Amino acid sequence: MSAVVPEDPRPTPVHDNGPGTAPGRVLSTLNEDGTRRWVRPEHAPGAFYNRRLIVAWALIASFVGLPFLRIGGKPTFLFDVLHRRFTFFGATFLPTDTVLLMLLMLTIFLTIFLLTALFGRVWCGWGCPQTVYMEFVFRPIERLFDGNRSKQIALDQKGGFQPKRPLKFAVFVVLSFGVANVFLAWFIGVDELARWMNQSPVEHPAGFAIVAGTTILMFIDFAWFREQMCVVACPYARIQAALLDRNSLIVAYDTGRGEPRGKLTKVATTDLKIGDCIDCKACVYTCPTNIDIREGLQMECISCTQCIDACDTVMDKIKRPRGLIRYTSQERLVSGKGKVLRLRVILYPIAILIVGGALGWLATHRVPAEVTVLRGIGAPFTEGAGGVVTNQLRLKIHNRGEEPRSYKFELRHADGLKWIAPENPLNVTADHAATTTIFVESQPGVIHGEKPIEIHVEDGSGFTIDVPFRLLGPGAKL
Ligand code: SF4
Ligand code: SF4
Repeated sequence: MSAVVPEDPRPTPVHDNGPGTAPGRVLSTLNEDGTRRWVRPEHAPGAFYNRRLIVAWALIASFVGLPFLRIGGKPTFLFDVLHRRFTFFGATFLPTDTVLLMLLMLTIFLTIFLLTALFGRVWCGWGCPQTVYMEFVFRPIERLFDGNRSKQIALDQKGGFQPKRPLKFAVFVVLSFGVANVFLAWFIGVDELARWMNQSPVEHPAGFAIVAGTTILMFIDFAWFREQMCVVACPYARIQAALLDRNSLIVAYDTGRGEPRGKLTKVATTDLKIGDCIDCKACVYTCPTNIDIREGLQMECISCTQCIDACDTVMDKIKRPRGLIRYTSQERLVSGKGKVLRLRVILYPIAILIVGGALGWLATHRVPAEVTVLRGIGAPFTEGAGGVVTNQLRLKIHNRGEEPRSYKFELRHADGLKWIAPENPLNVTADHAATTTIFVESQPGVIHGEKPIEIHVEDGSGFTIDVPFRLLGPGAKL
């Protein structure tokens, strides 16, 4: 029986760099001379690919649809970096919500740690937008234009102008524009994005530049950078070694069953007993990061399961049981037994419950308004005719609620003081902040150095707060 897939005509990257050079592995995406080795994976349809296809398109629908979804009039998710406001499930967090943001980030990280400890790089292979768009949008289109792996390699080797490729890249540009807009919708919101798109670039040059720049970056990523994102750029890939343990789920080759590997033809001609691996390299040729899974767990493996499907197809053809490459754990491969409950798998959920619980409690007990009192710009106080001392205060109220509010305020512990506020009550629209000025005048001798007062604020619907403040006068230590 011949090999199932055609051989790669290109020289294989070396693992022993030869006499006089440091022995070691050449990066799977580099040629011996250090140039980029273009990865042209063979598509391997199969049970896992079909499942990933369903997940991928459900995710693409979510990526596109979620920015449009609203909870209580607010976006479900909006990472508004420009205005430093982050909305999760309709709840808006401000930069001043330091503790909440910290707990939120901690909960996300702990959940990633737990999922990785249990399921390995399931995020990379099944959920990461880089993988989802690359493998289920850009790669299928590439196959449509350039053909399968052998044809793509042949085109690469031919060099020069390939008439189909400019058309393919034109389609990539259009797709990159779409992906860039979806990406931006998560950061600026669909309303702002629609405004940018409906106006001439001359009216909003900054917005136009951001859309154009993001489109170019997306195009570079999906047309050129590709697997390098996972192999050399992604920080999550770098911390895998610390997050996985011997019982984490990984895509692995069963060495005990597969080795010694050998071509099927040897069986008929020699007495050599070979394992189930017929060394067809289908698993290598389908790998989007160009690694050989038979060499064990490698950092470049994104758990995409393509090698499982490729090898299962081969096993079906040679009438051997499926699963020579399969989802398993290092421990299960060696001892035949895996362990789901491990210390980290117990500790992570406990930590998630504590941190997530604290986050939930704080989020539901947040004050409906944030009140800040600042000293006026310029001199801390002024002395006028007759020795009258004037302090200028700036009262800033951020209404975190869903409704506009009217905030009344007054000064307390302010005997002997006269205060003037041009805007009282202060009206603040929902989820916005407003600032007003208060002038406090005191007759000579009322403030000796400094005088503590309180600014009492209430919104008429149950919210009250007393903010302490120090008025300054002659003799104050500045
Ligand atoms: S592991 Fe499977 S796909 Fe890979 S070379 Fe061996 S038989 Fe072929
Ligand atoms: S080794 Fe297999 S699972 Fe890992 S990236 Fe390559 S094809 Fe995907």
